[in-house]
Amino acid sequence: MEFESRCVQGSYEPKNGEPRVLPLVQSTTFYYEDADKMAYVFDYPETGHLYTRISNPTIDAFEKKMAALEDGVAALACSSGMTAEMLAILNACSTGDNIISSTTVYGGTYNLFNVTLRRYGVETRFVDPKASEEEIEKLIDDKTKFIYGETIANPAMIVLDFDKFARVAKKHGILFMVDNTLASPYLLKPKKFGANVVVHSTTKYLDGHASCVGGVIVDLGNFEFQGNPRYEELFNKPDDSYHGRTYSKDFGNATFVAKARCQMMRDFGCQMSPFNAYLTNMNSETLHLRMEKHSDNAIRIAKLLANHPAVEWVKYPGLEGDEFYDLAHKYYEKEAFGGMLVFGIKGGKEAAVKFQDALKFLKIVTHIADARSSVLHPASTTHRQLSSADLEACGVPENLVRLSIGIEDYKDIEKDILQALEASRK
Ligand code: PLP
Repeated sequence: MEFESRCVQGSYEPKNGEPRVLPLVQSTTFYYEDADKMAYVFDYPETGHLYTRISNPTIDAFEKKMAALEDGVAALACSSGMTAEMLAILNACSTGDNIISSTTVYGGTYNLFNVTLRRYGVETRFVDPKASEEEIEKLIDDKTKFIYGETIANPAMIVLDFDKFARVAKKHGILFMVDNTLASPYLLKPKKFGANVVVHSTTKYLDGHASCVGGVIVDLGNFEFQGNPRYEELFNKPDDSYHGRTYSKDFGNATFVAKARCQMMRDFGCQMSPFNAYLTNMNSETLHLRMEKHSDNAIRIAKLLANHPAVEWVKYPGLEGDEFYDLAHKYYEKEAFGGMLVFGIKGGKEAAVKFQDALKFLKIVTHIADARSSVLHPASTTHRQLSSADLEACGVPENLVRLSIGIEDYKDIEKDILQALEASRK
């Protein structure tokens, strides 16, 4: 199936007489006629469902669609984007291990890496996304388990230089994991540029209607665990807690997600609910249509802001002259760059707050990538826990305003932004 057809029909194929729409299986558990039949599924979880913490037909269908959209081999749906990141990292890290991450990641991710995982002995070594390959390599040791970046950093709008990070990861046999939330697989495919694992906050464009918090880990099936000493202990030896199975030997190229499901999800139990999988699956059927409209509205707003006297600067990779224009054009699939953009308003933090408060059609919400246009001033809301130095490190100056441009009629979005810009100068 082509990509757009996968969005619409990629999760479910009805058999004779079955519902046309993916059924919502709102059941915690599944019946087996005898102990042997159930035991078989325990040993070979890929052959059936036992308990919804591990797998469920509705969640499974959504996972299959996500794997298909990212050209991967398997996926694991989680209760949130943060959970997907956490589970993916703990899947390959034990106390004493480290990961290397670009500094310009979403604020919640930065905090998870910089504070919480550190408390459990997993260290994050941050690196400037513009660092040279040699600088990145200097941070690697034999305990390094991931190189991590966001396709387009929220809200710094820095496009990841995939080739550079992928080359380093490949040279050292390290998993390259990418948060592809803000591009969505419609606009960019990390697998084409060397990623091994993709995580998403499905809360954003995949759901796209601000109805379900969720996340997913996608195994791109292109990493060789066997024979790689970095992953020997966790992936290449039998897991006594899981019927003595060896993930890299027994699950083929879906090793990463198999372990994440059979061991991590089993023990941490932070799966997506069947209802959220059902809704997110249905909403993702229009991903390709929405991403075009988001992108079309956003580039027009970016141009409007770039020419407005109340605006100091605009960051949107589709805007000519943007620092990441060339990189975005190298990696994105088409002339479309999503609905999020940021700008610096003249008059600093005070003007930013006035602008935000004056908007009527765009609503102030702690959210992006929704069909409805919205606004947020990170320095006074989502990022307020970060020090000024951390804010700078994340690329979030105090006058930065983040807009998430929706799929409404452009004229309504434009009118509201223009009146709010006037209000910010009073
Ligand atoms: N990754 C990115 C790029 C995000 O923007 C977010 C949330 O805004 C997350 C991950 C976390 O996802 P969630 O809110 O679904 O936990």
